[in-house]
Amino acid sequence: MQYAPVKGMNDILPDEIDRWYRLESAFRRVVSRYRYGEVRTPLLEHTELFVRSIGETTDVVEKEMFTFARPKGESLTMRPEGTAGAARAYLTNKVQSREPLTRWYYLGPMFRAEQPQRGRYRQFHQAGCEVYGDLGPLVDAEMLDMLVTFFHEVGVFDVEVCINSIGGEAARARYRSALTEFLRPRAQELSEHARSRLETNPLRVLDSKDARDRAAVTEAPSILEMLEGEDRQHWEGLLTALDALGTPYLVRPGLVRGLDYYSRTLFELNATSGELGAQNTLCGGGRYDGMVKSLGGPDTPAIGFAMGLERILLAAAAVPAAKTPFCVLAPLGRSAQLTALAVARDLRAAGIAVDLDGRGNSLKSMLRRADALRARLCLVIGDSEVARAVVQVKDLAGHSAAEVALGDLPGRIGELLATTPSPPEGA
Ligand code: AMP
Repeated sequence: MQYAPVKGMNDILPDEIDRWYRLESAFRRVVSRYRYGEVRTPLLEHTELFVRSIGETTDVVEKEMFTFARPKGESLTMRPEGTAGAARAYLTNKVQSREPLTRWYYLGPMFRAEQPQRGRYRQFHQAGCEVYGDLGPLVDAEMLDMLVTFFHEVGVFDVEVCINSIGGEAARARYRSALTEFLRPRAQELSEHARSRLETNPLRVLDSKDARDRAAVTEAPSILEMLEGEDRQHWEGLLTALDALGTPYLVRPGLVRGLDYYSRTLFELNATSGELGAQNTLCGGGRYDGMVKSLGGPDTPAIGFAMGLERILLAAAAVPAAKTPFCVLAPLGRSAQLTALAVARDLRAAGIAVDLDGRGNSLKSMLRRADALRARLCLVIGDSEVARAVVQVKDLAGHSAAEVALGDLPGRIGELLATTPSPPEGA
């Protein structure tokens, strides 16, 4: 019998991992320039934390959490997103008493029991940032501009920035009743799911993907028209800051997003080309000024985003992965194998990646494999090389060979790897 992987959970194999490393290090590089520091929180939290912060009537909490019971009535959940755990860590560690302004980032797996499809998995990876202690709107604009910079750095140029504001609690309450009033007479036109949301969480009807719901909300009132006082100033301040930065954006009054904790600024970055189809949202985020307080902490404004790394890798599919240059070491015969073992160790100690083929195969088959791996160099050692303390260095792209003394090896190979081009694709 063979074990199948858990539905919606994928293995990432070594030949794919280079692209992950590059994406993750680009993310770390970009956010470090903005002085975000990494936080690593547990994969498991108390279920109540997610129910409290994400919201009881959201899809994530209603049907997508991997939750299990522990003795003594304890209920734990695999984190479906990073914001709740980060806010919990911020409070647990009393960070607010040490610093008035905190910038954190995280990177790692999240778990949601969704229907798997391209770009949607049950274990997926998010990279995200959180800022605590800044009301914005400058930081909101800076965050959006940072995201655009990041996407350009990883080769995703076809991306649109969609923004909206859902105001503070009072604006949302006004809007909720206006929207319910607008939708009630149209209830029969709505999907069953939207109808059930009508009284509990009408804002969610706005981001339903069902065609009936989409048609029913085309004429719905806009929340932006209901913003007053500080909410309106905040929104206008955001637009002014984005204009000052020259960051292009689209205003989408229907953008509400799936989690309950948001207030004021909301945004999504969508891929506008490629094969992601309905799963083209690369990044989502917004302001959650009330969350830290609702979790029992002091009143702390906050804003953050999360992006799906699988989706970004799909969107960036055209960007070829750079391979770390390496050489294959091909010993012929028992004594050469033993010499090769020490040679490989010395090369690695000098920082050079070496694939030692110690299986005792023929030279022809080792060279064929080195070619298939797209190694830059193949180092051949036979009995006569051992006797003369040299190796034959074959340049696999140039089809040239040179003899190098063992004593000169690490330095010479390092130079050659830095200058020899990779064999052409498919060579
Ligand atoms: P959310 O936490 O729902 O706001 O999602 C933020 C981003 O995470 C989305 O824009 C996606 O890029 C990614 N994402 C969310 N859910 C999934 C999933 N099930 N599979 C893959 N990526 C996801």
